[in-house]
Amino acid sequence: MGCLTVASWRCVKQCGACCHLDPEERPELAEYLSPEELALYLSMVGPDGWCIHLDQLNRECTIYDDRPRFCRVLPDVFEEMYGIEPEELDEFAIECCQQQIEAVHGDRSLEMLRFNQAVGVSLLELPPLD
Ligand code: SF4
Ligand code: SF4
Repeated sequence: MGCLTVASWRCVKQCGACCHLDPEERPELAEYLSPEELALYLSMVGPDGWCIHLDQLNRECTIYDDRPRFCRVLPDVFEEMYGIEPEELDEFAIECCQQQIEAVHGDRSLEMLRFNQAVGVSLLELPPLD
């Protein structure tokens, strides 16, 4: 049997990296959000760059059931926003999370370690330490 690793996206608790919304770090927002969604997005950015709906102590969304469409990792949302086919969703969403976690928490952070473990990315697949 081969040793192919199939990773499945999932969110992990105590992360919250994607809720750091600072638009200066996301220059392409207008390319995948409608004007209404962009206005909503910008209205959610707090003075420290974090979403005003994030409980920063517990790193939990306080409006989870009512969170905007662009906060949802769903096949139809990602297809519409990014042109990602449903079968590509896991790989794309994992990369998005890794980029965001690296930017917010660091590429060797506990959050990155826990995320990679949760989605099934082997440490052997990660780039070596400098
Ligand atoms: S970056 Fe990914 S793992 Fe972290 S809170 Fe957002 S969706 Fe969850
Ligand atoms: S609405 Fe919730 S999920 Fe969306 S960015 Fe804010 S805290 Fe995060």
